[in-house]
Amino acid sequence: MAAPLFRNKSIKELLDRYKRVWSISHGLRLMGWDLEVYMPEKGAKERSEASSQLELMLQREILSLKALTKEAALANNLNVYEKGVVRCNQRDLDYFTKIPPKLIEKMAKATSNGFIAWRTAREKSEFKIFKPLLEEIVHLNREKADKLGYRGHPYNALLDMYEEGFTVKAADRMFGSMIPRVKKITEKILAEGRFPQKHPLEKVKYSNDDVRKVNEHLLKVLGMPGDRFRMDLSAHPFTMEIGGNDVRITTRYEGIDFKTSLYSTIHESGHAIYALNYDQRLEMTPAGGGVSLGIHESQSRLWENIIGRSRQFTELIYPNVVKNIPFARKYSRDSMYKYFNSVKPSLIRVEADEVTYNFHVYLRYEIEKKLMSGKISVPELPQYWNDMMEEYVGVRPKRDSQGVLQDVHWAHGSIGYFPTYVVGNVVGALSVAAMERSMGKSVFWNRVRNGQFNPIKSWLEQKIQKWCSVYPPDELQKMVFRTSYDPKAFVAYLEEKYLS
Ligand code: MG
Repeated sequence: MAAPLFRNKSIKELLDRYKRVWSISHGLRLMGWDLEVYMPEKGAKERSEASSQLELMLQREILSLKALTKEAALANNLNVYEKGVVRCNQRDLDYFTKIPPKLIEKMAKATSNGFIAWRTAREKSEFKIFKPLLEEIVHLNREKADKLGYRGHPYNALLDMYEEGFTVKAADRMFGSMIPRVKKITEKILAEGRFPQKHPLEKVKYSNDDVRKVNEHLLKVLGMPGDRFRMDLSAHPFTMEIGGNDVRITTRYEGIDFKTSLYSTIHESGHAIYALNYDQRLEMTPAGGGVSLGIHESQSRLWENIIGRSRQFTELIYPNVVKNIPFARKYSRDSMYKYFNSVKPSLIRVEADEVTYNFHVYLRYEIEKKLMSGKISVPELPQYWNDMMEEYVGVRPKRDSQGVLQDVHWAHGSIGYFPTYVVGNVVGALSVAAMERSMGKSVFWNRVRNGQFNPIKSWLEQKIQKWCSVYPPDELQKMVFRTSYDPKAFVAYLEEKYLS
């Protein structure tokens, strides 16, 4: 047993009370997983009532910790873990204190109507159906930013909810130094044609059973522990951290283009590896859990893209892929590597490759930023979207369903979420570059080729994952990389992989 992390008396009292918060949210997470995986369709109504009641209880329990948190914050000599607990709890308290119940209620209504309108609008490809609802959602988000308070740009208040401390200034710096270079890289890739835009395997239908066997092999290769982890099926793949020893992912089988299923399995496994490496002494505390959406996404994308789509990883899994998927046998290792890494300008974000993906996120970032400052208005979105798509990706949506209506995020009320996807690419690359430096580049890649992932997982655990939310994401990055939200490593990775 490792030494206890918490010694301060008020902290211990706070944590004792916090077990209630943790337990309610434990139940909510399990219910959320069940909703996507097992629940019969008609269970939705009662499930939604039960979850919203539990959410209210959760909120009340958090607010009841106000005095204890204040007392703990005033204590002297708190260690880093104790300070982390206070900081995280203060963030939750802050949110529920500053946002009035009336606003939460208005937002819930706007997003439930918004979601229905968005679904119809997307089906019919008519932006005007969603437009008034989106105007309301943007308006409420501005109100939210005002209540939360911010320095500088109003968008900062929203960015902070998903990526603590992240600002327009930091995001502008990150996008500003990478987007022009990624554009040049894309143009070169497309001109050179070494990485194809299309591959015949994309069109081949597969048997779910065959691909399931490869997915099970991938879980073995990645060393996912059978007694603390499981994988199921759902319409949209996700990871659910129910507890430190109960982490679940889902995958899906669409019947065509098998790499989609494989890489979604690797992506979610990356999230799960992070969760399984949390310091368990932080469990049931406000500082347990991943530090931000961007950092979480970095830990999934480094496995999915940088490791998973590498030549070395392709060689590692190739024998199993061709053993289980008969039609894949016709293709060489090199051809499969190209299949895993085709690069093509496309309209839909979730189908985009790791290179052009960044433009999809960048345009959403620009739109959200300008919506929040009032520089553009909701009716201008389709035109603005299409122009930016044409400028950066080189394709122009013909219908709004392939453009401004494609994502559910805004209908859910989430503004400020999108940039965390690119933070994921950037910090994922920083992580791999740091491992290459510390292990030696050829040692690192030989380990990937041989499937020796324990040293890689333990590096990630020690440097990043075990810390949970003890340090804010910016501070954690500076501790590990001596820099933060710095896209240099990501751009260098793309250049080396696609152009050298
Ligand atoms: Mg993810």
